Amino acid sequence: MKKVYLQTFGCQMNEADSQEMMLTLAAKGCTQTDILEEADIVLVNTCTIREHAEHKALSYLGRLAKWKAKKDDRKIIFAGCAAQRLGQKIKKKFPHTDIINGAKNIDNFASVIESQNLFDFEDKTNPTLENKSPIALVNIMRGCSCKCSYCIVPYVRGEAYSLDPKNILAQVQSALEKGASEIVLLGQTVNAYSYKGFSFSKLLREICAFDKLARLRYLSPHPMFINEEFLNTLKDCPKIARHIHLPIQSGSTRILADMKRNYTREELLAKLKALREIGIEVSTDIIVGYPKETEKDFEDTLTLCQKAQFSAAYCFKFSPRKGTPAALLKELDQEILEKRLDILLNEIKKSSKAAYARQAGTTQQVLFEKPTNGRTSNNFWVRTKKKYPVGAVVDLQIKESKDTILLA
Ligand code: SF4
Repeated sequence: MKKVYLQTFGCQMNEADSQEMMLTLAAKGCTQTDILEEADIVLVNTCTIREHAEHKALSYLGRLAKWKAKKDDRKIIFAGCAAQRLGQKIKKKFPHTDIINGAKNIDNFASVIESQNLFDFEDKTNPTLENKSPIALVNIMRGCSCKCSYCIVPYVRGEAYSLDPKNILAQVQSALEKGASEIVLLGQTVNAYSYKGFSFSKLLREICAFDKLARLRYLSPHPMFINEEFLNTLKDCPKIARHIHLPIQSGSTRILADMKRNYTREELLAKLKALREIGIEVSTDIIVGYPKETEKDFEDTLTLCQKAQFSAAYCFKFSPRKGTPAALLKELDQEILEKRLDILLNEIKKSSKAAYARQAGTTQQVLFEKPTNGRTSNNFWVRTKKKYPVGAVVDLQIKESKDTILLA
């Protein structure tokens, strides 16, 4: 029986892809190990969203040459976005790589490993993976058709397509039967999901009907696809988390148009208001210093953040990604980028602290991910003195907030 060591870089979509590939390997009789030296196969699933992420994956692959040389028959599978972008070039630079499987090819992973004939696998029916987490990740879409000007994802993951709801519901059912309490639906523009007229909202409603489900999340929604049907679904289905991570990227209509985000500042403000009215906490992603961003544009982002009162935000300085339209534009001075980032981070720190403080005195449903740590439905971390079983869902009174943790 072969043992596989898994190394995943990047986002939760990659985590979910890794699980799918591991399941395929389990179907071939492999087991997973957390100890590299015990492994016969290393599966590296990679990210290429920023150059830094790609370098990290490649340097890891470089270091695996020594691991591979220690024993005959050790194999390396290099998969994911960096594998897609660089393709067979990887084998030239890292000849110790055995299989390259790009992000567009995750569905065909089984035939890729079979066709390479590198492993003497025994087939196994009903393979399972050991899942210690109460949270199950389920991919519902692949690719992205949005082509935001700064983003490499559509070029490496291809056009968006939605997966069959029958398979998604079967996957959810199986995860719940194996003990998951929370399901996280994943897609690059997850709320653009649509399969032969079966909408994202319909999928959310059908998943909420599972008795065993305690909480449903989804990542990453796009502001453009937030519509009336979705807002009504949030109102009707309390199992859907009272939190949304909604990347806004900028608060300036002019910059949003340059980024090809397909919404304006005003539309964004209206959608954020509608979400707040339902009681949904919002966190976001923001890019600072996109080419041609003026002081006025930046000011628009800042005032939008003040109005929106985000509970958290991942703020990044613009960094050009080779191969995207934005990489051809003249960059702003680093000094400006740093100054704006500092100001924005300061603003977010204030709204985040206020969001945590607002929770004191409330009762929150906490889903425990560790014996004394869990998350509320509106996505705040809670620490308790008492221990709870992992996966337990408990209503707790929040005593106080301390920076970025709630105490109960
Ligand atoms: S929506 Fe835009 S930022 Fe998000 S993955 Fe697609 S192209 Fe990239």
